[in-house]
Amino acid sequence: MRTLETLQFDNTYARLPESFYARVMPTPLPNPSLIHFNSDAAALIDLDSDEAKRPEFAACFGGSLLLPGADPVSMLYYGHQFGVYAGQLGDGRAILLGEVRNGHGDKWDLHLKGAGRTPFSRDGDGRAVLRSTIREYLCGEAMQGLGIPTTRSLCIVGSDEPVFRESVETGATLLRMAPTHVRFGSFEAFFYRRQHDHIARLTDYVIAQCFPHLAGVTDTYSRMFTEVAVRTAHLIAQWQAVGFAHGVMNSDNMSILGLTLDYGPYGFLDEYNPGFVCNHSDRQGRYAFHHQPDIGYFNLRCLAQALSPFLIQDQAQDALARYEAAFAERYDALMREKLGLREAGPEDRALVGELLNLLQAGRVDYTNFFRALGGFQQGAGEHNDALRDFFLDREAFDAWAGRYRERLSAEGSRDGERRARMDRVNPKYVLRNYLAQTAIEQATKQRDYSEITRLLELLRDPFTEVSGREPYAAPPPEGGKQIVVSCSS
Ligand code: AMP
Ligand code: MG
Repeated sequence: MRTLETLQFDNTYARLPESFYARVMPTPLPNPSLIHFNSDAAALIDLDSDEAKRPEFAACFGGSLLLPGADPVSMLYYGHQFGVYAGQLGDGRAILLGEVRNGHGDKWDLHLKGAGRTPFSRDGDGRAVLRSTIREYLCGEAMQGLGIPTTRSLCIVGSDEPVFRESVETGATLLRMAPTHVRFGSFEAFFYRRQHDHIARLTDYVIAQCFPHLAGVTDTYSRMFTEVAVRTAHLIAQWQAVGFAHGVMNSDNMSILGLTLDYGPYGFLDEYNPGFVCNHSDRQGRYAFHHQPDIGYFNLRCLAQALSPFLIQDQAQDALARYEAAFAERYDALMREKLGLREAGPEDRALVGELLNLLQAGRVDYTNFFRALGGFQQGAGEHNDALRDFFLDREAFDAWAGRYRERLSAEGSRDGERRARMDRVNPKYVLRNYLAQTAIEQATKQRDYSEITRLLELLRDPFTEVSGREPYAAPPPEGGKQIVVSCSS
């Protein structure tokens, strides 16, 4: 186990050409104090959890103490925001402190969000507010618990620095971890700057760091692009199956590794509504829940354009086609699992589609319905009243249930065994907005961080029902549905 001093920081990114980043020191948070610490993330970098008790810990990750070997830089990237070319963006409030390699040889970037102004800050203050760091911290662990690729978070450090958003809030930092923070937009930067040698340099870097099996093969760049396309397809298939809306799928928020990256105004579906728009600032609904697969495609086209000097046209087209096929295949498989079906059948899409229509028409809670569906009983005399009661139009549900029953019986499904399988894929708990909001209000108004701990414990294993935690599976109370999340963070 390592201490802060023996983390052995390196920064391979900082050894790339200077135009890839800006060297910049964090601006210390005044009076930093540790708000929350994630021992699971610490284990990923072999960091001893007792280190969090030292005052140096909050100093380090509040930006006032630099660890040995750290070589802090803010990364350059460009991007397309809301479908429009946005030019230069870059880490306006985040600093890559360095990289740590654990005992298994896995490399983790340590990226400090909210660390103050950088040359990429434009008009921003370089800060993050406590509210938004809690949202990112919780959701990364929630996604991990759901088995969805994501960045992780080591800790939140708070302060009493006033930060001005819609109202005055306090500044905080989040230490984010990922094998790399390179984004689609990182490649776009050098395409629009017409620095083709840098595109190649960055691609070689990413391949060496993250896709080592592609190093030295023929058509390396095209193969990497295909792999990124497939990973992105699988990621978005998982979002759609679990009911997660990212909210700001700009190309600068798309991880080259297919991780869920940059948690802003995200949301999990409560009632099933495919047109759900979680980001209050997204007036056109570009990033509505049901648009996400198409937006993934759009972003991959941005990446293909950035890589175009090195891609063979046909291969890029093939990779984009692979994206669509990989998405459909994975989404269909995930939905089959949610229904407890073991074998693929020609009528599955219709069965899923009709169920989703019923959920939408009845404004049924997406997570809770699928969890309850595990209790479906096939027996001819079974009415499945608990499931029927989710719907106002019970006859419509009965008609669907009849077809579902036939489908189950055709593959010799057994109730108990199927339920056990379904309970491992249909979560009991998801990070509903109102749950995060409760944790945020207790933290910001009362400096009480215990709700963060309770949520983390539950969401780390969202498939296991915990006695006494039934309220955490409840749909939002009336007021909780109206919580508006904006881009402001
Ligand atoms: P985001 O919407 O958080 O992905 O951010 C989009 C761009 O704005 C990125 O370049 C961010 O680094 C930058 N940005 C967001 N908030 C701030 C802030 N408070 N200060 C400086 N830059 C910011
Ligand atoms: Mg971003």
